[in-house]
Amino acid sequence: MSGAVEFLTVALETAARGWPVFPLRPGTKRPALHGETNCPATGACAGGHQAWEQRATIDLDRIRRAWSTGPFNIGIPPGRAGLVVVDLDTADPGDPEDVPPPEWAQLGIRGGADVLALLAERAGQPVPATYTVTTPSGGRHLYFLAPTGPDAPVLRNTIGGLGWHIDTRAHGGYVVAAGSLTPTGPYEVADDRDPVPLPGWLIERLRPPPPPIVPAAPVVSGRGRASRYLEAALAAETYRVHNAPTKQRNQSLYVAAIALGQLVAGGALAEHDARAALMSAAGRHLAVGAYSHRQAEQTIASGLRAGAKRPRRIEDAA
Ligand SMILES: [Zn+2]
Repeated sequence: MSGAVEFLTVALETAARGWPVFPLRPGTKRPALHGETNCPATGACAGGHQAWEQRATIDLDRIRRAWSTGPFNIGIPPGRAGLVVVDLDTADPGDPEDVPPPEWAQLGIRGGADVLALLAERAGQPVPATYTVTTPSGGRHLYFLAPTGPDAPVLRNTIGGLGWHIDTRAHGGYVVAAGSLTPTGPYEVADDRDPVPLPGWLIERLRPPPPPIVPAAPVVSGRGRASRYLEAALAAETYRVHNAPTKQRNQSLYVAAIALGQLVAGGALAEHDARAALMSAAGRHLAVGAYSHRQAEQTIASGLRAGAKRPRRIEDAA
């Protein structure tokens, strides 16, 4: 079997479980579909841009067509699939900053799996066996059926909301499916049973309002393209900071501050709003001591100064 055929087979098998799929760039975790900013407004987007969450499909013909053009990895939006995926990550052994909060460390916590086991123990409940995928970094993705019914909460992504090194992927997110391959290794099925319902003790912890996928950004007044562009820019930059890989926390904060500093200098955004959005986005890194409040302020100030040298007006950008 050629490589491309293998990925097509995985995509078809994943869809056969009833889970919509969309292509990720070969060898990566990044969507292969165009973004909103370079939308051609044709085909699937003729009536407005369709993001990967909407374009994911279980239509076997569409999947065959998409995967016939390359060895794409496979993305699943759990929200569309009726799933909630609990993402248990491991600490980076080469990163002295990637350590649990002291109260966890005292309990011998080494990663997200240990945190989940502790939460289960405190709830007096087991972590049920369910469909499980191992990741190249040694993490585990536990697939659960999302709660259903008229009173069921709509669960969205959470980042660290359950605890250190535990994220969840639901509405608004995607996971890399088993059978995908990255330079650091494969995503592989570790337990092939069908997903079991998300246990009640986890539903209660994930019930909205959960930690948002991006920290709250200042409310942008006004309407129209410029306002939407500013909102998108704020969301993108705060997302960049919030989700910065451990080794790029400070760099990501600096880069985001430059981008917002350009908008401040162009008159689109108040400086105190930019500072507040960036500091809010840095919250989770502050919480684990990745940098101090004062260091974050300095990084933000120097990024804003650098951005101010290249003012960016929204009319130019949008
Ligand atoms: Zn589009």
